[in-house]
Amino acid sequence: MSKGRVTSGMRPTGSLHLGNLLGALNNWVRLQDEYECFYFIVDWHALTTPGGGDAVGYEHVGELQDRVREMAIDWVAGGLDPEKCSIFVQSHIPEVAELHLLFSMITPLGWLERNPTYKEMILGYKIDSPSYGLLGYPTLQSADILAYKGEYVPVGKDQEAHVNMTRDLAQRFNSLYGAKVFPITQTLLTEVPKVPGTDSVDKKMSKSAGNYIALSFTEEETAETVRNMFTDPTKIRKNDKGHPDGCVVFAFHGIYNKGEFAVVRDECEKGLRGCVDCKKQLAGRMNEALAPVRARRRDLEANPGRIREILHAGAMHAREIARDTLDEVRDVMNLPPRGSS
Ligand code: SF4
Repeated sequence: MSKGRVTSGMRPTGSLHLGNLLGALNNWVRLQDEYECFYFIVDWHALTTPGGGDAVGYEHVGELQDRVREMAIDWVAGGLDPEKCSIFVQSHIPEVAELHLLFSMITPLGWLERNPTYKEMILGYKIDSPSYGLLGYPTLQSADILAYKGEYVPVGKDQEAHVNMTRDLAQRFNSLYGAKVFPITQTLLTEVPKVPGTDSVDKKMSKSAGNYIALSFTEEETAETVRNMFTDPTKIRKNDKGHPDGCVVFAFHGIYNKGEFAVVRDECEKGLRGCVDCKKQLAGRMNEALAPVRARRRDLEANPGRIREILHAGAMHAREIARDTLDEVRDVMNLPPRGSS
C-alpha cells in the first residue's frame, strides 16, 4: 500500500550519465514501489537561465524537445515503470503555471531574495541580468510539488533547504485562507553513492565538466572512457605498488565490482595488478550491469511513439490531480467559479 505521495523533477539535460543513474534515478526506482510517485521533466525550469555551451536555456531552446525526449527514454530505460509511477513533462500541466501565479501573489519578495540557490545560480551560470523567472524559481518549484499535494520530496543531505520554502508557502497559504489545502511537505533523506567524475575522485560526475559516462554510450565508448580514467600517476608498471584511494577506476570497482573490491585494493597495493587489466575488468563489469538498460533504451528509441504515450498518460493522470487541487485553491481564494460569467 502507498505510504504517501512523492514528487520530484529533473532539468532536461538530455541523456543521463552514471551519476544521475546511481544517484537520483535508482532511488526513484526504489520509491515507485512504496509511494505514489510523480516524476516530471522540468522544461519551464530550464528556461529560467539563458543556457549556452551544452545547456539549454531561454536563449538556447533549439535542442529543448530532444533533451526532454532523451531524458524520458533514460528514465524508463533506467527502471521507472509507467505502470507504477506518473512520468510527464512539467509544461504539459498548465495548472502548475496557474498555481505558480497564485503563489507568486503571496510569496514575500524577501524569501526569494534571500534564497541561497538564487545567488549560487547567478554565480554558477555567470548571469549578468537575472530574470524575474529565475528569482521566482522556488515559487514554481513549490507549485510543482503542491499541485499534486506532494507529501515527500527525495533529496540528498545537502539539499534539505530546497524544500523549506515549499513548506513555508504551504503554511502561509493554509493560514491566510483558513483551510488545510496543502500538506506540509517533508524531505525523504536518501543516501546516494558518491559517483566521481572520470577525471578525479574529488570531482562529481557532470555533463558540464565532460567527465561522464552516458547511458547512451555504446559498450566500446564505455570501455574507451574507462581506458582514459584517472589512475594513480605514480603507478607506471604492473609491479609498481599503487595507491588505489586516489584512483577513479578503484572507486568504480567499489560500485560495479563490489565482490572483488578488497582483492582489487590488495593486488594494487602489492603491485600484483596492472592498470590496463584493472580497467578492462571494470569496463566488463560496467557493461554487464548496463546491458539491460541499454537494451530497453534501444527498444524505446526504435519505437518513438511509446515514449509519447508514456508522457501523455502520465500527464493525463497528473492533470486530474492538479485540476482538483486548483479547484480547491480557487474556491478558498474566492475566485469566481469558471463558467460563471
Ligand atoms: S591497478 Fe587499478 S586500482 Fe590500482 S591504480 Fe591501477 S587502475 Fe587504479
